[in-house]
Amino acid sequence: MTQCTMSTISGCIATRFTLSTAHPKNTSRPAALRPVATASLNSSPASPPSLIRNEPVFAAPAPVIHPLLREDMGKDSYEEAIAGLQKLLSENRELGPVVAAKIDEITAELQTIDGSATSTETLETLKAGFVHFKKEKYEKNPGLYGELAKGQSPKFMVFACSDSRVCPSHVLDFQPGEAFVVRNVANMVPAYDKTQYSGTGAAVEYAVLHLKVQEIVVIGHSACGGIKGLMSFACDGSSGTDFIEDWVKVGLPAKSKVVAGANGTPFGDQCALCEKEAVNVSLGNLLTYPFVRDGLVNKTLALKGGYYDFVNGTFELWGLDFGLSPSLSV
Ligand SMILES: [Zn+2]
Repeated sequence: MTQCTMSTISGCIATRFTLSTAHPKNTSRPAALRPVATASLNSSPASPPSLIRNEPVFAAPAPVIHPLLREDMGKDSYEEAIAGLQKLLSENRELGPVVAAKIDEITAELQTIDGSATSTETLETLKAGFVHFKKEKYEKNPGLYGELAKGQSPKFMVFACSDSRVCPSHVLDFQPGEAFVVRNVANMVPAYDKTQYSGTGAAVEYAVLHLKVQEIVVIGHSACGGIKGLMSFACDGSSGTDFIEDWVKVGLPAKSKVVAGANGTPFGDQCALCEKEAVNVSLGNLLTYPFVRDGLVNKTLALKGGYYDFVNGTFELWGLDFGLSPSLSV
């Protein structure tokens, strides 16, 4: 495959178009954003190595929740759930003594709960949600779900924030099978690094090399708590968070750019600008993945930046492509 060197990438041309449905004032574009992705590539091709720390990664096993996630969970009272856990324990001795002890502990804790209103409500929310989905969507689209049972072939890979208000499948009306989605705090894409952030690397690798997605879209959003944190933290490890500060520092180049040009701009406006600049940092970081660069050079892959403003109901999209591509404004 053709290797795209950094000097080649510096020739990338950023284009942008806006899909705006609300106030005319919201169509104003942050023109300063356009060259950021290419500029950052020229200045820091392997950014940001100085921000990367070797921290242990821990993934928690979660076998005990399965009894609550079955389709017929509506029949499950707390007693039934506990019985289900005990049954799971008795039938799965291979889980080992440590896990078995943990299940015993959780079972004992559950038995002390009298089914508080909050817990019942959340369980009912999950139940009602799945019942609605299955009745209105799954059972009404046997063709779609039949095909999806065989495999997936999404056109899009999407990075979006974990924020509960910005689900990309809702905002962009993705149907099942259309988008391979990674959500994290502040929709960050760290630079290629085999020693950490393997979750992100695995997702990009799988999406590009195996699913062969055609577009990777990184979507920022208004009022992002992660970006506000990035802009607020001293970024010297003093924030008191276990993970958040270290994670959002992936976007530190965006913060530096915004702060450098702040010139008295109110903090809230700086945060809004950083929400978009951080998307450009992520686009730049995507170019550090060799299989992403190959896809761009071979024109099998394109990168897009997006911004969803849920306060004003607008969505902005801009591109990073090799060669000229037409701008579009609707
Ligand atoms: Zn956010």
